[in-house]
Amino acid sequence: MTPRRSTRQITLGNNRTGIVRIGGGLNGTQPAPVAVQTMTAGYTHNIDACVAEINKLAAAGADIVRVAVPERKDTEALKEILQQTQVPIVADVHFHYKRALEAIEAGVHKIRLNPGNINDRQQVNSVIDACKERGIPIRVGVNEGSIIERKDKQKRMEELGKYFAGHRSGHLLALMIAKLEEYLDIFHEKEFFDICISAKSMDPALTIDIYTEISKRFDYPLHLGVTHAGPKETGCIRSVVALGTLLANGIGDTVRISYANDPVYEVEDALEMLYCLGMRNRVGAELIACPTCGRIQVDLFTLVQKVRKKLRSEIDLPIKVAVMGCVVNGPGEAEGADVAVFAGDRRGIIYVQGERVANVPEEEILDRLLTECRTFQEKVRRGEAKLGEKKVAIVPPDPIGELGSGHEKIAAGRVERITVGQT
Ligand code: SF4
Repeated sequence: MTPRRSTRQITLGNNRTGIVRIGGGLNGTQPAPVAVQTMTAGYTHNIDACVAEINKLAAAGADIVRVAVPERKDTEALKEILQQTQVPIVADVHFHYKRALEAIEAGVHKIRLNPGNINDRQQVNSVIDACKERGIPIRVGVNEGSIIERKDKQKRMEELGKYFAGHRSGHLLALMIAKLEEYLDIFHEKEFFDICISAKSMDPALTIDIYTEISKRFDYPLHLGVTHAGPKETGCIRSVVALGTLLANGIGDTVRISYANDPVYEVEDALEMLYCLGMRNRVGAELIACPTCGRIQVDLFTLVQKVRKKLRSEIDLPIKVAVMGCVVNGPGEAEGADVAVFAGDRRGIIYVQGERVANVPEEEILDRLLTECRTFQEKVRRGEAKLGEKKVAIVPPDPIGELGSGHEKIAAGRVERITVGQT
């Protein structure tokens, strides 16, 4: 892991929402944790639905939520939405500078602007002036899809043709940097530096290249994202490959993973990425589970999904929980966990910090495992136990029979059943 690059810092929010800082390390600021953003999927002018969605995203862990304001009725809804929500809101503005002015007037906490799709420089200037007056930061964003004006479609296709013809990121990269520099000049001329920047591509490799290049050229905090990443199943890979690589290289101050799906998944996956990189303190349990193989001795896939769902709703502390399919790797993995189960012959042997506490039939594993998790959580809360502490080494059940045992072998009596020493 490369240390985080130092940047200027921007802040957004107020007493009601809490202040969220993005970036830092320069000008006497302390680097803020990488902030997680997402965007509502519904219409902003549907006030109740929009408020409900924002609150749901904030509850999932979003630090900042962006809303689209394509029409006057959307900015008109903002005032009410801001009163009913407690997370900083960003207004996403395209084409109509007046939407930005209206959103600022409504009290929005940040503006996302693509100067490339607002034709008149004076209009952009009026947005900058309004933000400056109220201390509202602006994200200056270029997207691969909008770096050449739509009226120049033919030219754009030629540019993209050159890019796809062989040079993986040279031509388009240069084009995006040039556009970004051009846009930033507008802000610098107005002496406006309360800026976060983004340059998104649909291509993870280009995303890595462009943000790496930008990080050398500008000291503004960076908003990372892969645009149009697609459905969750593949979009997750596209986003995490690019964003995870950049973050591990010390680049990036706020992230948005984008899916063609419920944005709650965007928040959950962005947080999990940051937990995995050690960039945020985990909230809730950490679940590890084996992939299963021919030695599996319970229906682990179903069990893992049920455990995952229950842990989310019942456990707040970062308890490490292991669910393992047999005794081969079970004890080893379980040793590093606070609460663990490894399976044998349609039973589950449950451990809490290395101490065996139960040996139950398969149908009782879920309930007993969760009971142990809840009890352990309460003990931690009362100061009677500490997370990550291992009291005793786990000894695999004995005898375990030959490795590679499966149901058939057990049924054939070639392997002893792992039911000895029931607790
Ligand atoms: S723990 Fe057992 S069942 Fe799971 S993958 Fe490892 S050997 Fe296979």
